[in-house]
Amino acid sequence: MKNQVQTIAFDADDTLWVNEVYFQDAEKKFCMLLEDFMPLHSVSQELFKTEMKNLHLYGYGIKGFMLCMIETANSVSEGNASMQLIEKIIHIGQELLQKPIELLPGVVNTLEQLKGRYRLIVATKGDLLDQERKLKNSGLSDYFHPIEIMSDKKVADYKKLLKHIDCPPESFLMLGNSIKSDILPVLELGGFAAHIPYHVTWTHEQHEHNLKHQNFLELKDISSILDYL
Ligand SMILES: [Mg+2]
Repeated sequence: MKNQVQTIAFDADDTLWVNEVYFQDAEKKFCMLLEDFMPLHSVSQELFKTEMKNLHLYGYGIKGFMLCMIETANSVSEGNASMQLIEKIIHIGQELLQKPIELLPGVVNTLEQLKGRYRLIVATKGDLLDQERKLKNSGLSDYFHPIEIMSDKKVADYKKLLKHIDCPPESFLMLGNSIKSDILPVLELGGFAAHIPYHVTWTHEQHEHNLKHQNFLELKDISSILDYL
């Protein structure tokens, strides 16, 4: 890997900075708003079903999440959610859109060590404006060129990305916290991939794995990649 890799792509949410815990907090607040209609756990399940149903329409990100919360509130309450409640839901989403950026440990040091030696890029999915905001507020933008905000992270999306950055798969290394989105598609294309687990994972991204592949690394944290480069 050491002599082959030229471009290193970083996932952003829960790889460079905290994300999923904010979503889970928001979801908890949302479920509590609807506690009178349904137990918390059932509201959460209903919300997830709505999110999966709408994923192909809204894509990933906070704005789609807000619309799904509103739709779920309407169905869970059987049409009895007040405008006041809807306003509270919108507030939950707007709060999420303004969360401070909390970098994960070792990120800056790792990027410092790698800059100049490799081309570093960001490959993330989510709302365009929100991801741009987070990158700007993270102070990390200057490490990366380019920053790719993708609508999804499937094999076809990575293929398009590699073509766009003019990089053969065998020179490409992807680092991320999601086996499903950051690892498997890249391995399928013949690239290298390193998994950096984060302590919470969105249900949709969960993937039990016991992955063994010659191009795959399981790391304990982001700095550990330096041992392989
Ligand atoms: Mg991620």
